[in-house]
Amino acid sequence: MIQNPVPWPDGARCAVALTFDMDADSILHLEHPEDSISRVSAISMLRYGPEVAVPRIVETYKRFGIKQTFFVPAWCIEQYPRAVEIMLEGGHEVAHHGYIHENPNAQGREEEAYWLRRSIEVIESATGKRPRGWRAPLYNFSDHSAELLAEEGFLYDASLMGDDVPYVLRTGKGDIIELPAHWGVDDWPQFVQSMDLDYMMPIKSAADGIEVFKQEFDAMWEHGGLWIGVWHPFATGRLARWLQVTKLIEYMLEKGNVWLAPMEEIARHVKKCIDDGSYTPRVDRLPYYTERVTVMPLAGSRHKAAVGTVRQT
Ligand SMILES: [Zn+2]
Repeated sequence: MIQNPVPWPDGARCAVALTFDMDADSILHLEHPEDSISRVSAISMLRYGPEVAVPRIVETYKRFGIKQTFFVPAWCIEQYPRAVEIMLEGGHEVAHHGYIHENPNAQGREEEAYWLRRSIEVIESATGKRPRGWRAPLYNFSDHSAELLAEEGFLYDASLMGDDVPYVLRTGKGDIIELPAHWGVDDWPQFVQSMDLDYMMPIKSAADGIEVFKQEFDAMWEHGGLWIGVWHPFATGRLARWLQVTKLIEYMLEKGNVWLAPMEEIARHVKKCIDDGSYTPRVDRLPYYTERVTVMPLAGSRHKAAVGTVRQT
């Protein structure tokens, strides 16, 4: 089913990364710059992430003896330094997730480059280490993102959805390893309801929501893929859901032949396999398009469309 499964370490059937995006209230200030500070209930819901959920998550990881990855906007590092210290004390990776969860594909190249670099500096001064991985806020990877990541020496990206296994983003400035996920492993559709964030989903029971992720894991285990949970402390770190996650981790460990690792470690392994020839990844050349795709309706038809000037690079 998967054309080119990665040779995972020690013969593991699949690799697993439970990643958390600790957005805290950055997303609220971005969404409502005029009056975010008066939306106190929403702020409290989002602060639950750094204040309550992160210590709980790190404690559980410690119990299982696993190291994982947190993507943290730089503004959140400045606002919630204790949460980041707790991640670092647990030996976890802190990766790049924008400055204040700004939207890269609403920015020009220079603006995107500025916030990328400014956030690298914040991460470096908080962690003592330059970030090696990036996830675009809200998956809003722009047509400049891949090239900017290569310029800044990033090893991997975790924003795109183009495969079941890692692949390569090739740019004029170098290659980036893509560790792909998709909305099916994201916790917002399962658990988030917020009028302030204009996101209203019928909230699943904790067990039903986590069951969606478990089925994704079983498929990856069966066929040698990469399973990444794209979760948020304020959502999946809530008590009932986190209890279900601990059961999911137990299930994974009991099933066996699973490699749980931080994203950077997974990306390094993939790069090593590419370099020694034991893995030949699919390569996507980015940007996908350099010109607007113009779709012109055919005269007399409301349903058919003709594609105008398209040039794929
Ligand atoms: Zn985010």
